[in-house]
Amino acid sequence: MKPETIAIHAGNLSETATNDVTSPIHLSTTFLRDADGGYSGGHMYSRVSNPNRSSLEKVLAELENGFEACAFSSGNTAGMALFQALKPGSHIIAPDDMYWGFKKQLQNIFSETLEIDFIDLTIPENILAFIRPNTVLIWIETPSNPLLKITDIAAVAKVAKSHGLTLACDSTFASPCLQSPIALGADIVMHSSTKYIGGHSDVLGGVLISAEKTELWEKIRNIQQVGGAVPSPFDCFLLLRSIKTLNYRMQGHCLNGMALALHLEKHPAITQVFYPGLSSHPQHEIASKQMSGFGGMLSILVKGGADEARKVVNKVKLFAQATSLGGVESLIEHRASVEGPDTKTPQNLIRISVGLEHIDDLIADIDQALSQ
Ligand SMILES: *Cc1c(COP(=O)(O)O)cnc(C)c1O
Repeated sequence: MKPETIAIHAGNLSETATNDVTSPIHLSTTFLRDADGGYSGGHMYSRVSNPNRSSLEKVLAELENGFEACAFSSGNTAGMALFQALKPGSHIIAPDDMYWGFKKQLQNIFSETLEIDFIDLTIPENILAFIRPNTVLIWIETPSNPLLKITDIAAVAKVAKSHGLTLACDSTFASPCLQSPIALGADIVMHSSTKYIGGHSDVLGGVLISAEKTELWEKIRNIQQVGGAVPSPFDCFLLLRSIKTLNYRMQGHCLNGMALALHLEKHPAITQVFYPGLSSHPQHEIASKQMSGFGGMLSILVKGGADEARKVVNKVKLFAQATSLGGVESLIEHRASVEGPDTKTPQNLIRISVGLEHIDDLIADIDQALSQ
């Protein structure tokens, strides 16, 4: 079946006495045992599994061409489950332009148990020089946050395979609709479902999807069930509801993202636009090869420095000045001030999450904010 159909049907697992067309929310934390001690309903205790979570995991696994999914209470806990599953003393290779929260996690929480190199992954051959005897994982993020760098997933997968390394891809900016990391050779896909999957800025969540059943995957499942950083049944319900329209929302984000990028690229107050759909983007060719659309995330450099950038984000009216991304409403932020004093993000960089408002209204708003 095609993704649009999977998104609407694959999560409808539960049959009810009242013949509901959509699944109800199962709030019960515990489930009845049979006379022989078994659980014929398929669930025992809600931290271990819950009907709404099983539905969510099924539809996400199918959308990503995976074997199974593990849903977590946030994107950060999804990533953390994978880092926790690695043997202490392992070495991992991560991108230099990495989601800030993960970089902090690796530097603050895992600095004593894991060895980490942050490198430029836009050139896959770069990786070879960094592989050590104890290297176990290559973590990529494409498109990356906030510079929209593109990593060639198939090329890095080849390097990972030939050295027996696990390849994990943070595919949050692409959503499950715009690229298929597993089909390109990745072992594990990660999403912050807080972003496009949720799509309405009202639910926190994260997910890992595995290409196949492996020892590492069993460990991750154990961390999910015994560690317990799981999403609530209501969160799962909201995500399942959002997924039904994900493909159509992504089409809108791609159309608006491209139109705004093309408009801003010609704007005299802007020196650079980072958007993988532009032919000026250094990895545009790879993006065109591995993505079916370029999404709704873009970053711009305004003429001047931090003050000029802050002026713009304070002057827009329709774009909400807030962090996060992937919702129906457009968001804008001065990224360096979110990331703090040790950030390498340019001071004149503004990150934009293009929503689903009419593009004419978005362009009119940003134009008035950019005018002196
Ligand atoms: C937001 C985000 C995360 C973290 O997800 P949370 O749901 O905020 O914990 C990870 N990676 C990327 C690319 C993100 O944008």
